[in-house]
Amino acid sequence: MKIYNTLTRNKDEFVPVEAGKVSMYTCGPTVYHYAHIGNLRSYIMEDVLEKYFSYDGYDVTRVMNITDVGHLTSDGDTGDDKMLKGAKRERKSVLEIAKFYTEAFFADCAKLNIKTPEIIEPASNCIDDFIKVISGLLEKGYAYEMGGNIYFDTSKLEKYYVFNDFKEEDLAVGVREGVEEDTNKKNKADFVLWFTKSKFDDQELKWDSPWGIGYPGWHIECSCISMKHLGERLDMHCGGIDNAFPHHTNEIAQSEAYLGHEWCNYWFHVYHLNTNVGKMSKSSGGFLTVSLLESKGYDPLVYRFFCLLSHYRKSLVFTYENLDNAVVSYNKLVAKIGSLLNEPQEKIDSEDFEKLKRGFVQAMDNDLNTSLAITALYDVLKSNANSATKIALVEDFDKVLSIGLIDRAKKLNQSSSGENIPEEISSLVEKRKDARKNKDFVLADKIRDEISELGYLIEETRQGTIVKKK
Ligand code: AMP
Ligand code: ZN
Repeated sequence: MKIYNTLTRNKDEFVPVEAGKVSMYTCGPTVYHYAHIGNLRSYIMEDVLEKYFSYDGYDVTRVMNITDVGHLTSDGDTGDDKMLKGAKRERKSVLEIAKFYTEAFFADCAKLNIKTPEIIEPASNCIDDFIKVISGLLEKGYAYEMGGNIYFDTSKLEKYYVFNDFKEEDLAVGVREGVEEDTNKKNKADFVLWFTKSKFDDQELKWDSPWGIGYPGWHIECSCISMKHLGERLDMHCGGIDNAFPHHTNEIAQSEAYLGHEWCNYWFHVYHLNTNVGKMSKSSGGFLTVSLLESKGYDPLVYRFFCLLSHYRKSLVFTYENLDNAVVSYNKLVAKIGSLLNEPQEKIDSEDFEKLKRGFVQAMDNDLNTSLAITALYDVLKSNANSATKIALVEDFDKVLSIGLIDRAKKLNQSSSGENIPEEISSLVEKRKDARKNKDFVLADKIRDEISELGYLIEETRQGTIVKKK
């Protein structure tokens, strides 16, 4: 499998540290608000990556943090604390909003068929781990104390800007207009590892530390949580492209300085979901949520399908018109699969199965090309394979795509058959099912004849009993 690696700027062959296993780390949500569908684009594509590793036979361990402390409104360590801002907005405590929005996040993920990673770790659970690593960085001379805070000293590194060759003077380092630059920093790119009470006095969550009462910076949490659960060498680190700098750049700086060796081999970045006016973001207010789409009558899995139609390394523009086009394609796909389910099922043809599967695997092996993988799905439906083989392939691809194709097709069949089948017939069908369950085949056949006399046919398929008007 080849996957684009932001670190090497190349599509690299994926080779894990330990044969057969993948350690995967995902930057989790900052839980001060609902996740918007842009955030969820990143999580959908990361979910596809994880599921494709599993499909490929790897044993995957995936860890996700929950940012419930330390993420300021500017990635350059200035501005307000996002969690505190959220708590003030809703007149609740930081812990209350963290709990509420963490649950809301996983509820949205479930609607989008995003698998919950094995290990979920809130940053506020790991304060001792942060203190250990920050102390190590101070001992090794990679960090300094200034104005009450502990900073990482980027000038101690041979190469800090690992992803891009930025020029220091061109960088605002996350400082936005109207936000004061931190004068404690020795170098513009330095970043905070630990804040103390000398700054941001209204911080609600604070902990004791060797440097005074305070709280961790945002970047340190991901390095520490990853090392805590996945060890000193990580296969794959994921996030949205905005995280590449400064967040992931800082993670690499501090992790490798602490460990004394290379840390993560592959960096997977998902490009942004944009609206007509630019990047969708929580801070800009007008963002869209899964619940909003649902309230407008969209199936969340259609949004997932919409995301899969584009490559993850291209930015994607969200408009309702684009989403409506995806609805039309999705419904056609489901209807086609629905009619396949109604056809008599022969034996799966393993030769056809393997031949048609190849198109899907080739697409996914080539830097997770989901749109080509969906073309491979259309190729299956158009092929001459028998319906059992086609259905088996749809089920197989959907282990990775997770767009609920069989489930939605069955529901479609149920609802379309339910509309036409009179109550009298439905109850005879149920009685016949019971008779078959009790192995009373004489009675089952008698009921079938009765149903036939009333003008209906019964078919047994792999997907269950189908009733049709003659
Ligand atoms: P946050 O909750 O702000 O920490 O972001 C959670 C994830 O969503 C991170 O991986 C971000 O990089 C990613 N993200 C933020 N905005 C977008 C967007 N508009 N499109 C895609 N991913 C995004
Ligand atoms: Zn992170």
